[in-house]
Amino acid sequence: MTKITPQPGILDIAPYVGGASHVAGQTDVVKLSSNENPFGPSEAAVEAFRRAAFDLHRYPSTDHAALRKAIAEVHGLEASRIICGVGSDEILHLLCQAYAGPGDEVIHTEHGFAIYRIGALAAGATPVEVPEKDRTTDVDAILAACTKATKLVFIANPNNPTGTMIGADEVQRLADGIPDTALLVLDGAYAEYVEGFDGGAALVDQRDNVVMTRTFSKIYGLGGLRVGWGYAPDHVIDVLNRIRGPFNLSGPALAAAEAAVKDQPWVEKCRADNTRLRAWLADSLAAHGVPSDPSETNFILARFDSADEAAACNDYLLSQGLIVRMVAGYNLPECLRITVGDEASCRRVAYAIGQFKGGAR
Ligand SMILES: *Cc1c(COP(=O)(O)O)cnc(C)c1O
Repeated sequence: MTKITPQPGILDIAPYVGGASHVAGQTDVVKLSSNENPFGPSEAAVEAFRRAAFDLHRYPSTDHAALRKAIAEVHGLEASRIICGVGSDEILHLLCQAYAGPGDEVIHTEHGFAIYRIGALAAGATPVEVPEKDRTTDVDAILAACTKATKLVFIANPNNPTGTMIGADEVQRLADGIPDTALLVLDGAYAEYVEGFDGGAALVDQRDNVVMTRTFSKIYGLGGLRVGWGYAPDHVIDVLNRIRGPFNLSGPALAAAEAAVKDQPWVEKCRADNTRLRAWLADSLAAHGVPSDPSETNFILARFDSADEAAACNDYLLSQGLIVRMVAGYNLPECLRITVGDEASCRRVAYAIGQFKGGAR
């Protein structure tokens, strides 16, 4: 037996499992398991990425000034309070590393994103899981779970994998009610799908205990690039920049993300298509006896009569070359999370679920 062991907590982490992308024996596969943008990124982002190939011998910028300026202009934010990371995952990990350690508690909700628990355990802290109410963040339950040891409270708003969100009043009440030694982290990975929503940026501006995280992986269609960002009070930005790797983002990633954020017409087009196709998909599934909560994101959480039925439907969809996401690991065994794809994919998955419900197995 080796005497070399990792820090406490690390072996409690169940390795993250991403959405599948292949089905054995199937060639015409539709991947609806990772909430990717079916239309891909802005053409301007692809072009910037290509151009960046000519500078691969150069180290990238360490302060990400150009990307932060572009984000700040688009969103009306203070560039000095923006930090960029290798996906928003890196920002979430940096927050855990900086603010939570052994003996500290990190709150997440029962259907919350897996990275919150992983980040807490990786930092040696204790993750605390709080119930939701009808698959929606329950502010009272979170406040009741807070203790003197609470250092971080993570919510995604809108949430993954439920697709639901809570209003600005509730978020404000949460920020007001947590201990004054804790930070509230608002994960806005899906904020762009909600017309006119600032992701909580205004709250960050008003307070010293709220952080917002955002990503280029979802509506921007750049999941393969790994770029995310955070907006936080000055004191938090100062702390995170001390532990962030100076060259965490590559030159091509910085260039493509900057071009992407400047192409807001593309974002608006993708948002409009998603809203339309999401409504069609939810209505179609409901007509087949598969309800879902009103979703504010680019996926719907389809509810089946039982965990067995959800698993059987997942198998049937795979046999038809359709990959969706089982979410039993998020305490939702009777549900399947289905990304809103392009129109053909939505039709294909709705048709297959109709066949399944009609007796096809
Ligand atoms: C997809 C997603 C992210 C984004 O992760 P990246 O590291 O930026 O790709 C963050 N939070 C939630 C809830 C997500 O669903």
